Amino acid sequence: MTLENNKALRELVRKAALLNALQHGGKAQAGAIIGRIIGEKQELKTKAKELSSLISKVVNEVNSFSSEEQKRMIEENWHEALKKEKPVEEEKGLPPLPNADKYKQVVTRFSPNPDCVLHLGSARAIILSHEYAHMYKGKFILRFEDTDPKVKRPVLEFYDRIREDLAWLGCKADEEYIQSDRLQIYYEYAERLLRDGNAYVCTCMPDEFRKQSLAKNPCNCRDLSPAEHLVRWKRMLNGDYGEGEAVVRVKTDVEHPNPAVRDWPALRIINPEKYPHPRVGSKYRVWPLYNFSTGLDDHLLGITHIIRGKEHLTNKVRQEYMYKHLGWTYPEAIHYGRLKITGAFLSKSKIVQGVRDGLYAGWDDPRLATFAALRRRGITTGAIEKMIIDVGPKTADVTLSWENLYAYNRKILDPTSDRYFFVSEPTALKVKYIPKIFRPKLPLHPEKPERGFREYTVTPKGEGAVFWIAKRDADAAEVGKVIRLMELFNVKIERVNSGSLEASFASEAYEEARKAKAKFIHWILEGAEFPCQVVMPNATVNEGVAESACKKLKPDAVIQFERFGFVRVDENNAKLTAYYAHK
Ligand SMILES: [Zn+2]
Repeated sequence: MTLENNKALRELVRKAALLNALQHGGKAQAGAIIGRIIGEKQELKTKAKELSSLISKVVNEVNSFSSEEQKRMIEENWHEALKKEKPVEEEKGLPPLPNADKYKQVVTRFSPNPDCVLHLGSARAIILSHEYAHMYKGKFILRFEDTDPKVKRPVLEFYDRIREDLAWLGCKADEEYIQSDRLQIYYEYAERLLRDGNAYVCTCMPDEFRKQSLAKNPCNCRDLSPAEHLVRWKRMLNGDYGEGEAVVRVKTDVEHPNPAVRDWPALRIINPEKYPHPRVGSKYRVWPLYNFSTGLDDHLLGITHIIRGKEHLTNKVRQEYMYKHLGWTYPEAIHYGRLKITGAFLSKSKIVQGVRDGLYAGWDDPRLATFAALRRRGITTGAIEKMIIDVGPKTADVTLSWENLYAYNRKILDPTSDRYFFVSEPTALKVKYIPKIFRPKLPLHPEKPERGFREYTVTPKGEGAVFWIAKRDADAAEVGKVIRLMELFNVKIERVNSGSLEASFASEAYEEARKAKAKFIHWILEGAEFPCQVVMPNATVNEGVAESACKKLKPDAVIQFERFGFVRVDENNAKLTAYYAHK
């Protein structure tokens, strides 16, 4: 007997698929079911291929039903399983911070360079830092690190966009600092380090310095007197040196095993006429480099816990030398592993370039993983936050997919989103011999009748009534087969023309449809349609009609178009424009 014909097995797969669908917002995942079935029936291990083809058939069938119908099928056939299989909601919190009680108040920070809008890649740093501050009733600081007017040039627009994104994420900062306001502070510390002989102004050619450094030798400048270095420092500030002709270095260990740690550069010259800063213009020509300004500010702003990616481990080693020179203690530092979201990340420069070149429609182009784009598509902050907190600050690398994020989002949207019908590429279905007037009441939410209904009146006239159905469903229709118009009645397909279908009324009862193994499809009564387009994640536009009840939807509402997906209403005037979130 082939697996296909094994009725008991088919039922077992159907049960597993339905239960799995229930846990995943109506969409069963074939992968999980294969493991499950083989776990129960070891003998099928050798027939994995055949089994997986059976499973994918059943999964497709199960996924074509609405969540409501799936639930009903389980209730009818496997009532017990429903109780047993209720997924256990495991609340995962964050692990405690190291040495939190050593400090009067926990202070964390998020420190973006405003050279791009924020995207999903920043979510971890933001949410963990904010969440920890919140957890310990501490303080969360936003610090703009905008001290590179040349290569990572900040853009005015992004300061505000970043603030907006943080507010949207629910991670508003308690305090805000902008490094380009703090140049005098950095200069004071540079001078102090120079005076104490803990830093020096190096005027070597970069190649020459590199050669000496790699050979573990001090360069010619390193051992000159502090007085000489203070003179050179003044000359740096006065404009006596051009770009690349002098750099302040913090003394570390010229023999440090990691060459990148040896006497790292702290401040350098940028031509202020050629590269004015968008906030402070051409006022400064000496700019701090990352480790210097970040290292100083973490101490000066009282940061107790730095939470960042492990690519910063070497920066900690570098900065610790400076802390020692200044007699400071380095904050607690938590370095988490890489979080990769497959297919989600474009580099900041590619995003900026793409938008500038018109390749993307804007910062919220649905193809981007910017917070602005996620927001526009109806991805909730709750989903992002939950995903990040579940991953936590662990040091192992983690790879997630868009699907993971969608699963979190679906869990949030499913109970709160009203249901409507959207017919993509509408095709006319004429139904004859309708015996009476039907007044279908379609629940806005299958489990929440209190939310109300969409009501339509189907009045047969002359030849019958005409419905719009999706082209996808029309293409799949076969003469002689019964299909159910959801929450309405069952029809038998009589004729398939190119571009339209004809059917006759078959029966009304839901059970009849089940018996006939009818496909359940959504529909819109002719005359009750409303033009609608859905912008998909790849920026293509899905044209169709929505049911007239959608006319009252307000922008920002997130709804579910049944058998299509969750969408966010973007505009709703003469035509409804929605952005697609996910299935
Ligand atoms: Zn030198």
